[in-house]
Amino acid sequence: MEQLVICTSNAGKLAEFRTLMPQEIALLTLSEVGITDELPETGSTLEQNALQKAREAHRRCGLPCVADDTGLEVDVLEGAPGVRSARYAGEARSSQANIQLLIEKMNGLKPRTARFRTVLALVDEQGEYLVEGAVDGSITTAPRGMGGFGYDPVFLPVGSERTFSEMSASAKNSMSHRARAVAQFAKFLEERMTRGSLT
Ligand code: IMP
Repeated sequence: MEQLVICTSNAGKLAEFRTLMPQEIALLTLSEVGITDELPETGSTLEQNALQKAREAHRRCGLPCVADDTGLEVDVLEGAPGVRSARYAGEARSSQANIQLLIEKMNGLKPRTARFRTVLALVDEQGEYLVEGAVDGSITTAPRGMGGFGYDPVFLPVGSERTFSEMSASAKNSMSHRARAVAQFAKFLEERMTRGSLT
């Protein structure tokens, strides 16, 4: 069976990969290949960060590695918080503080359009491959809903009356940036496997 290392310690992200990936591929976590420290993430774009993590993991374990990076890009803030989404309000990475800062910065500004964008990078013996998935929406003036995580309470996807936090997990996953990126990546792997081996 082909093996693929998913560079995340987030159980939710791993579950999403497991649902969407071709069954013939065995997914391994970083700890299963002996990587227990945090991978470096010092790039200035989502693409650089995803590649940096996947390259480092591949260098250390030798197996095909896939890493992701996600950002919320707000048009009127020129793409911020973007690559800094997790640490927007500081190193504590508090979702509540990040949301509060975002609402403050957008006070009185228009338009409120934004998108979530996820970049996935695969690094293996055959080289490097990038895919992205995005979902367009807008930022509400106050948090709404209890579900999800991160910026979900203030993100209203286009065509929906509910924020990501007000939706069921399955409704969010049917349209999310990450699900779209993972689905595209799964398609790429399936095509590649019909031509030859993953490794
Ligand atoms: P990461 O790169 O996936 O760790 O995410 C970077 C930042 O974006 C963190 O602050 C996350 O909370 C936030 N984020 C990532 N994915 C989502 C999502 O699906 N909904 C809301 N916030 C997210």
